[in-house]
Amino acid sequence: MAVHRASAPLDARSLFAEYPFLPGAEGLLGSDAVSIRGLLDEPAYARPRAIGAARVLAAADDPRATRDIAELERAGPEERYLSFLFAQIVLAAAPSSAALRRWAVAEAKRTYARLAAVPAEELTEVAGRLGFGAAVVAGDRIELPLVDYLRLSVPIREADFRLSRQEVSGGSVRVGRIRAARLVQEAIRLRLAVPLPLADDVRERVRQQEADLLRRLAERSPAPVARGGPGAAALRPELFPPCIRKMRRMLQAGENLSHAGRFALAAFLHRAGADFETIVDAYRGAPDFDESITRYQVEHITHHDGGAGYTPPECDTLRSHGLCFRDGDPTSDRPADRQRDELCYRPDLRHPLQYYRWRGGRVVVTDDPGPTSRGAGPGTPAGPGRSRSTDRR
Ligand code: SF4
Repeated sequence: MAVHRASAPLDARSLFAEYPFLPGAEGLLGSDAVSIRGLLDEPAYARPRAIGAARVLAAADDPRATRDIAELERAGPEERYLSFLFAQIVLAAAPSSAALRRWAVAEAKRTYARLAAVPAEELTEVAGRLGFGAAVVAGDRIELPLVDYLRLSVPIREADFRLSRQEVSGGSVRVGRIRAARLVQEAIRLRLAVPLPLADDVRERVRQQEADLLRRLAERSPAPVARGGPGAAALRPELFPPCIRKMRRMLQAGENLSHAGRFALAAFLHRAGADFETIVDAYRGAPDFDESITRYQVEHITHHDGGAGYTPPECDTLRSHGLCFRDGDPTSDRPADRQRDELCYRPDLRHPLQYYRWRGGRVVVTDDPGPTSRGAGPGTPAGPGRSRSTDRR
């Protein structure tokens, strides 16, 4: 992605064109207030709509935002803002929130590429307008209030962001410009992942008028696919246990999922018969998604022991990691996910794969299921041996 280091502070128009998610960016339109209906309907806004659609589709194809969006590079400030608004409206009307969250990740990463290259003053200006008290101190160092640092760094899993590795003094944390840019990226992602509130009639109108774009988006978020070969079985995500459904939602939402959760999800999907690409896809919404690292890790988990893979952790282990959701997930927008799951309370239920089988899903049977993981991930000591674990689970 082409990012050029700016040398002079941005004027307000340029600032809002580069960062259309900032409060006040609507001021770019001056007195020419544009209604949602106008933006959706009027021929005069065909170009912002086209650029907005390109933004949305690019994010679905490339959540790491490594490619330039040609139309965006050529757009003027108003078009940039309107295209951003159009993307937000369409994604708020999409039947699934996964596309919105993936877009939030991509737009935040795209902005990071700029913030990592611009003068520190521009970075702190953006952070300040997002509500974070960042200030430039000595040289290129940037100081944030401790509470803001914690808010933004917690979802970032890299060890370098742990508080214990930071320069903390008097209730503030000092970081370098690149680390500060990564923190602001997180602030942007959080902001964009919240859907615009749309009235029901507006949502319906968007769904009708932008049916083609929404269909293309849905095609880019393929349903989980089962792998072929001996013992192949259809993948039935609707029958997954509450813990696994929650882990998938967290990643789709761009939320952080612990190492234990990531391991459990990959191992479960593999045992349930998901193909390799489906397992990798499950992690695309993660805030720290990295294609090559994810592929390597999924390969490690699924290729273990001649392809049997690691056995996912048992219920007790997941519970000890705070990953059991049998009491329901109050944050889910699906009523079924919010309810307590009675099957999970059966005293003889010990394993998520057992739950899946009880509900009618098929677990791919292997001759040697490999070590049972009671721990957080690969390399942890094997649990009690099970000669044919999938018969019981
Ligand atoms: S009881 Fe087991 S299967 Fe059910 S949500 Fe908890 S960990 Fe998952």
